[in-house]
Amino acid sequence: MSCIVDAGVFMVAHVTDVSLTFLGTGTSVGVPVIGCDCVVCTSDRPQDKRFRSSVLFRAGDQTLLVDSGPDLRMQALREGLRKIDAVLYTHAHLDHVVGFDELRAFCWRRQDPLPLHATPSCLQTLQKMFGWAFFPKQEIAGYVRPDPKVIAGPFFYAGLKVTPVPVEHATVETIGYLFEYPGARSLAYLPDVKRIPPASVELLMDVDVLVVDALRVADHPTHFSLSEALATAAGVRAKETWLTHLSHENNEESLANSLPDGVRFAWDGLRISLNHAPSLA
Ligand SMILES: [Zn+2]
Ligand SMILES: [Zn+2]
Ligand SMILES: [Zn+2]
Repeated sequence: MSCIVDAGVFMVAHVTDVSLTFLGTGTSVGVPVIGCDCVVCTSDRPQDKRFRSSVLFRAGDQTLLVDSGPDLRMQALREGLRKIDAVLYTHAHLDHVVGFDELRAFCWRRQDPLPLHATPSCLQTLQKMFGWAFFPKQEIAGYVRPDPKVIAGPFFYAGLKVTPVPVEHATVETIGYLFEYPGARSLAYLPDVKRIPPASVELLMDVDVLVVDALRVADHPTHFSLSEALATAAGVRAKETWLTHLSHENNEESLANSLPDGVRFAWDGLRISLNHAPSLA
């Protein structure tokens, strides 16, 4: 809440809390990697424990989950998550969809089917993988009740504008999302990307907060390297940038000091308030 004094009248205005919470910041195999003895995988630092990439975007009482990866159950328990209003999918790679089954617990606590926003090809893949959930006449008691929403442009959740941002990543149709709420900082989430087409760059110009793929230092055929992520952040003039979808090849402890002002590695559990001015020097 904030207080506003207007023409001698003392009023109390409610400010909608708008925030992003990182459920996971790791690449598809997570960090640590099974069976790996590298310095990152054997580290005790909390920053070196990364679930598969996923975020929660909150605006007031609306909670949107971006992707349902294989760690969704542990992520939801860690965050005390009880309710989601929709799932927004970026693409149909397994590290972003295979936790679909965990959406059951959220469906038990709601009357209506759960909106699932995705591109046509991503929805098709979900319907192939979890076909039994999409047959309305054969509804399975207690299972996920999806309300498929084909993404065809920007959509709204109680004043929050969500704009799909098409990107190139491997051969699978992939999007990121731009979140805009009146009076709050804008935020773009692009966890899996190798190239951003010019029309999408236009959407991202001067974004307040950019969350972007930075898989590792070395070049990779389907993900941004660290230098590609930094060039993108500078190119769109992002005021604040958080790096995500990180592999064990990114030694955050040794690399953190080399990042430019306004750019940092994200970590699991990090919450960014979008009501406040940029916090990164
Ligand atoms: Zn991924
Ligand atoms: Zn390792
Ligand atoms: Zn991917």
